[in-house]
Amino acid sequence: MGFLNVSKLTLRAVRFYLHPLSASRSWLSTKASWMGGRNLLLMGLPGAGKTTVGRIVAQRLGLPVIDVDDDVLEATWKMPVSEKLAAVGGERFLEEEGQALCNLTASGCVVSLTGSNPLHPAAMQHVKESGLVVYLDADIEDIMQRLSRMKVNRIVGQKVGVPMRDNLQYRKQFYERWLDVRVFCGREDTVEDVAEKVLKAVARYQTHASETYVSTRSVEPSNQKTYFSDVVIEGLAPDGGLYVPEHGFPEISAGEWLRLADMSYPERAAVLLEKCVHPSDVSPSDLRTMIFKAYGSNFSSEAVAPVKHLVHNQYVQELFHGPTASFKDLALQLMPQLFSYCLPPMCNYLILVATSGDTGSAVLSGFSRLGAADRRRTGVLVFFPEEGVSEIQKLQMTSYSEGNARAVGVLSDFDFCQRALKRMFGESGLSGHLAVEYGTVLSTANSINWARLLPQVVYHSSAYLDLCKDGVVTFGKPVDVCIPTGNFGNAMSAVYAKKMGIPIRKVICASNHNRIISDFINTGEYNLRGRLLTPSCSPAIDILKSSNLERFIYHLSDGDGRLVRELFARLDTKQHFRLPDALLGRMQEEVMADWCSEDECLAAIQSVHRRTGYVMDTHTAVAKAVADRLQDGSCPVVLCSTAHYGKFAPAVLKALQIPGIPEDPVEQLKKLGSVASGPEAHRDMMTCMKESSRRRHTVCQAEYGVLVEEVEGMIRESFLKVL
Ligand SMILES: *Cc1c(COP(=O)(O)O)cnc(C)c1O
Repeated sequence: MGFLNVSKLTLRAVRFYLHPLSASRSWLSTKASWMGGRNLLLMGLPGAGKTTVGRIVAQRLGLPVIDVDDDVLEATWKMPVSEKLAAVGGERFLEEEGQALCNLTASGCVVSLTGSNPLHPAAMQHVKESGLVVYLDADIEDIMQRLSRMKVNRIVGQKVGVPMRDNLQYRKQFYERWLDVRVFCGREDTVEDVAEKVLKAVARYQTHASETYVSTRSVEPSNQKTYFSDVVIEGLAPDGGLYVPEHGFPEISAGEWLRLADMSYPERAAVLLEKCVHPSDVSPSDLRTMIFKAYGSNFSSEAVAPVKHLVHNQYVQELFHGPTASFKDLALQLMPQLFSYCLPPMCNYLILVATSGDTGSAVLSGFSRLGAADRRRTGVLVFFPEEGVSEIQKLQMTSYSEGNARAVGVLSDFDFCQRALKRMFGESGLSGHLAVEYGTVLSTANSINWARLLPQVVYHSSAYLDLCKDGVVTFGKPVDVCIPTGNFGNAMSAVYAKKMGIPIRKVICASNHNRIISDFINTGEYNLRGRLLTPSCSPAIDILKSSNLERFIYHLSDGDGRLVRELFARLDTKQHFRLPDALLGRMQEEVMADWCSEDECLAAIQSVHRRTGYVMDTHTAVAKAVADRLQDGSCPVVLCSTAHYGKFAPAVLKALQIPGIPEDPVEQLKKLGSVASGPEAHRDMMTCMKESSRRRHTVCQAEYGVLVEEVEGMIRESFLKVL
């Protein structure tokens, strides 16, 4: 899992000079005062409080204030705005209003725009060049109440017969287009609250250095700052640790969560991720575009990650509606876009992945959907053991056999594939050759990458918000989540959601008979000695080294990099470490864990099906069996359903005791579909299997040189021909 250190420094230098945002960032932060002569422009719906907030903010910053309505429009037209509107009508009004704004030459002011300014592109272009556009994103219901108190019953540009609420909703797309910074207002925030948030947001915008990342093994503060865009590209930290935010997670107020509860999944994701990704790394409007691309039509459920009642106090969150039917899609439909966005110019990147299961298809799907320009310089090559993955997983992967995303079978086992990749990353001769000859850098996309962990915080938050919305809990009341755990990525993001303010009581970690994590959580001892993996019917959690656990220990020890470094060094040399007692206690306050046998797993599938008709996959069933044993029923528990049952069809058919299991995977899916009253058959999985069974894929000999040849061949074909 190494990472090319080719030129961490050069890459950063290049990005600094060529990335437009980086350039403006450096310019801003060298000014001592507020943006030295730049304007601070407040934008938002009528009734969002722009005028009042503008006055408070201007006073706090010691800047003059301009209210476009009073100081620009009325001064220009020499009549009240309402009179002008009555005289010329809506359309003409917007045009004249825009022209008046185009003549604004003020600098170093707080400017409160009108609610309709953003409908005039030329005017907005003009003012955006003069400063920072801050969007007061207020709750529509709060606004409706305020407007009715102010006796406003129409807004500029409102067509006759269109209700006010729809009009306000329609307006929002214009604000989304122009914003540099969002100020997300909670339910019933006062103007003072909003002004405070504006000041905070502006301070955040100006100091990129407040959102840096450190390695879980860092011992002393580094003088080189590492930003989001660096950690996405680098994956693993140079000292072998994993990146975490240096200053923790943003906390979200109850009023803000309540607003999020009324939003769609992509809207929730946009607000939450904006708070975790600094605008200098990814601008909010670009982030939004990526999120809507990731969670729009790619998911077969509009809810993206819907929560359903199972039995008693148990709910399932279905995380398998993405294109490859496992929860990995939630991260991997977004991560490639972030990766491409953060890439320094001038280099091609080839992501290499060794997989024994669900990662391969999810990575292939994510990277194959990049836009044409990104596909030309970002590719992914997946190596899988030709005989070591399930028939269905193989069909999913081999439906990608050309273009910038390809899967290649290897006549060996997973270990061989992984060792070969490690060797490629470690060989400076090879990386030098690829860099010089093809301008190509090798990279990875495994679950330690921050950009894979972060998007998962959204679905854990979303599950809780859905329970609030459905009246299962009132906001603030606790729930448990139960997660089939392998690399601890899914569980870690639940811990982070809790840090952001979601009242998760316990994260319950569920293992199969390869129970190293549940043993660790119960004893504090991580012991690899004499442990061998025993294959199971929930193969995605057959794991010995649980990589994201390192982040959890870092978090539990309040960021004790020295301890983390010692523990994992000991694991490498002695195959064993023990958590200090104080931390064991802390760990058990946050998580619980247990494991279940193969029989219990299959029995859980059968009994849930018998009682409800609902079919769970084997990983979900592990969570169900463990929740049945550990959870006390005093609050709701959300089971993370990490895969669609179709992905593990043979085991599920066996669990349901269906006689005569068909050989053909497509027939297996049909059979399961006919006995399940839910969830529905997975459309994308069906389609891709029908297509790929007609396709041939490359299979290579188990020789290092042959794999290197594949890598070079892919680079030549997919990157060079387009130059
Ligand atoms: C990857 C995977 C898991 C394990 O997730 P971690 O984040 O590694 O704990 C569980 N279930 C399925 C179906 C998976 O594909």
